[in-house]
Amino acid sequence: MTQHAQSDSPVSLWADTAPAAPATDSLPSGEHRADVLVIGAGFTGLSTALAAAGRGADVVLLEAAEIGSGGSGLNNGQVIPCLSRADPDEIVAARGAGKGEALVALIRDSAQATFDLIRRHKIACDAVQNGWLQPAHTPGRVERISKPRFEQWRRRGAPVELLDQDAVAALTGSRYWHGGWRNPTGGHVDPLALARGLARAAMDAGVRLHTRSPVIGMERAGEGWLVRTDAATVLAKRVVIATNAYGTDRVWPGLDRSWVPMRSYQMATSPLPDTVRRSILPSDTAMSDTHGDLYFCRFDRRGRLVTGGALIFDRDFEPRLKRRIGDRMALLFPQIGEPSFDYVWHGQLSMTEDKLPHMHALAEGVITWVGCNGRGVALGIALGPVLADAALGAAPADLPLPLTELGRVPAHALAARIAPWMLALFRWRDAQA
Ligand SMILES: Cc1cc2nc3c(=O)[nH]c(=O)nc-3n(C[C@H](O)[C@H](O)[C@H](O)COP(=O)(O)OP(=O)(O)OC[C@H]3O[C@@H](n4cnc5c(N)ncnc54)[C@H](O)[C@@H]3O)c2cc1C
Repeated sequence: MTQHAQSDSPVSLWADTAPAAPATDSLPSGEHRADVLVIGAGFTGLSTALAAAGRGADVVLLEAAEIGSGGSGLNNGQVIPCLSRADPDEIVAARGAGKGEALVALIRDSAQATFDLIRRHKIACDAVQNGWLQPAHTPGRVERISKPRFEQWRRRGAPVELLDQDAVAALTGSRYWHGGWRNPTGGHVDPLALARGLARAAMDAGVRLHTRSPVIGMERAGEGWLVRTDAATVLAKRVVIATNAYGTDRVWPGLDRSWVPMRSYQMATSPLPDTVRRSILPSDTAMSDTHGDLYFCRFDRRGRLVTGGALIFDRDFEPRLKRRIGDRMALLFPQIGEPSFDYVWHGQLSMTEDKLPHMHALAEGVITWVGCNGRGVALGIALGPVLADAALGAAPADLPLPLTELGRVPAHALAARIAPWMLALFRWRDAQA
């Protein structure tokens, strides 16, 4: 297993497939100024910086490690226009008609907005907009998940389709599932290539992006904030913290206790023979099913099946995952035989108690969001312009998410420790009809 240069994470498939990142340096020592300072060069930070620069702001973006070295460069690359658990009616029940429907609309349009952004900036990231599919693994899940989810999105104007077992078999190349639904605006990308392409677009728009520049604290200074790295300061009128599941107390006290971290493992097979490749997901859709212990996969451009899973214990994860997920893939797609995996890596997700994204006003002029709950590619990118608007003074009433105070997950340390055990519960539920 090859190790990542900056961390103890194993190297991802995307580190080998993405075009090189634009050249960046660390923030030079001394004092700097900006209208908007963005912290974190993942999808959220990059999209925020790009949008704020597009609205005429002078933007500095500081990244602790490299572009996309958080969740954005490590994920499965599925561009999914819905949340992992909360459906539109639930979002509206939790947030009220105004904010709830506004967030539902943002999520509904998020995949299309992502692919439009990729086309507008001509980002080379192997973007494939051939739809996102959620097949149902039991007849009960067709009734309880696929049908209501399809119906709720259809009512909100999403171009969704309800699929019977034959239609799902035609799209997946497997008769394992019992039906499902599909949103044709979804798809998949090489996520690290997308992050690097967004960085290039942001820099072309005038964003001063510095990598290897961890923020170690910030304090109020006059009308703005003085943000510190080891060797330099930036005096900024507004700050957007886009550190998500990689955020720590050092950036803002209590930030990392407003969500629970979860580790997700990703894997890529060796390139499959052409005949096998063409028999699995023949129209190159991205797929995540109704299991709580999620079954998901998509192809990369070389015909590698990119999948993964979760584990309760992380000891010896590589051989255990290869066995567990290899058996899973062979069950779903017997034509694959015994798959061999060339890559296994992992990344961290931020989970919130209510499974919803939250946007927080940490203090006057400092905002953040947390709670991707496993769906942050399209959502993080779609939230960029929202965070830019909020930073540049949009009225809270005009934003699709409420700007709330920072929450705290009760008994956070315990919640973080028991989070992986939720998987046991999910597996038990998955086995029910
Ligand atoms: C393994 C995995 C698979 C996933 N698969 C999917 C998927 O297929 N589809 C989907 O929609 N979502 C998926 N997700 C979720 C999605 O990847 C994330 O929600 C999304 O990438 C978050 O983007 P972000 O920009 O908000 O945060 P990140 O990409 O995590 O970026 C945060 C950045 O902040 C930086 N940072 C932290 N501290 C500091 C500091 N002090 N100073 C400066 N910078 C700092 C970090 O280095 C990091 O680069 C997956 C996540 C993981 C981990």
